[in-house]
Amino acid sequence: MTKRALITGITGQDGSYLAEFLLDQGYEVIGLMRRSATSNLERIAHIQERITLVSGDIGDQVSLMNVLRDYHPHEVYHLAAQTFVGASWSQAALTGETTALGVTRMLDSIRLIDPEIRFYQASSSEMFGRVRTVPQNEDTAFYPRSPYGVAKVYGHWITVNYRESHGIHASSGILFNHESPRRGLEFVTRKVTNAVARIKLGQQQELRIGSLEPKRDWGFAGDYVKAMWSMVQQESPGDFVIATGQTHSVRELCEYAFKLVDLNYEDHVVTDPAFIRPAEVDLLVGDASKANEVLGWKPSVSFHELIEMMVMADLKAIAAQGS
Ligand code: GDP
Repeated sequence: MTKRALITGITGQDGSYLAEFLLDQGYEVIGLMRRSATSNLERIAHIQERITLVSGDIGDQVSLMNVLRDYHPHEVYHLAAQTFVGASWSQAALTGETTALGVTRMLDSIRLIDPEIRFYQASSSEMFGRVRTVPQNEDTAFYPRSPYGVAKVYGHWITVNYRESHGIHASSGILFNHESPRRGLEFVTRKVTNAVARIKLGQQQELRIGSLEPKRDWGFAGDYVKAMWSMVQQESPGDFVIATGQTHSVRELCEYAFKLVDLNYEDHVVTDPAFIRPAEVDLLVGDASKANEVLGWKPSVSFHELIEMMVMADLKAIAAQGS
């Protein structure tokens, strides 16, 4: 029997890697897309003919129910959200509507249409915020530091609650930062690697960013989507931290990315207060031992390999645009 999966947020970084992975596993992939005047398909253009794109919105319960009724997925991967921490202060209520309540709308749709559908919730290390312990694992208390983090805490607990209240096979993946050449340009890794390429190719002089001190546990998105799938395949649902266990500062990220093209970051990086956040998450580092033991999951790409992959991809893309 061919398994069918619905991915919300299929046009995003994780949605595109997950769709590729599920297609390779022989799945039929349905992708939920918001109606939009402008096309946002660049990350899935190469697989567009192999997937079914359907229109719906996590702000609209009926549209979700219709999609579940019409396409009968066996698994739902809920990745759609307002995902940029930086924007969540200026659009706090919208972040709550999508990132928090969107989860309830999808879980209610599953409960009403077919409670046998298995569910994956994209939870986030931002829930740990002002961290209570180092490293963070599934038992670490949450202390979110942004409207985004607060909304993700809600999404996490409503997932646990529907598992416990309604017996839904609902899992929550607490993913630490995960990046790739497909990462949005607003996130710091891609902002840096893109700027490094543009500076190297003479198209830009400086890179304006916020604080250089925060530390993050950065892994490769292609590794992380495999963990999502693996959680959904378990006999019992659960919560899993997915992380590399290594942490690096934004400064180290800049230093390494510029060094890759024989430049010194201190000659180009300018701190701009516009990018300093009202409240910061200073340090994240995850302990993924449970995922390793139960799912057999471990990351395959190190921080340095990841940044090199991203710088090389940006150099190639920008050089191609110029030629
Ligand atoms: P986040 O961990 O989900 O917020 O991922 P980001 O990539 O957006 O940010 C990672 C860290 O980099 C945070 O601590 C930011 O405050 C810090 N940072 C410093 N300068 C910048 C910047 O210019 N843009 C972004 N996005 N983050 C920055």
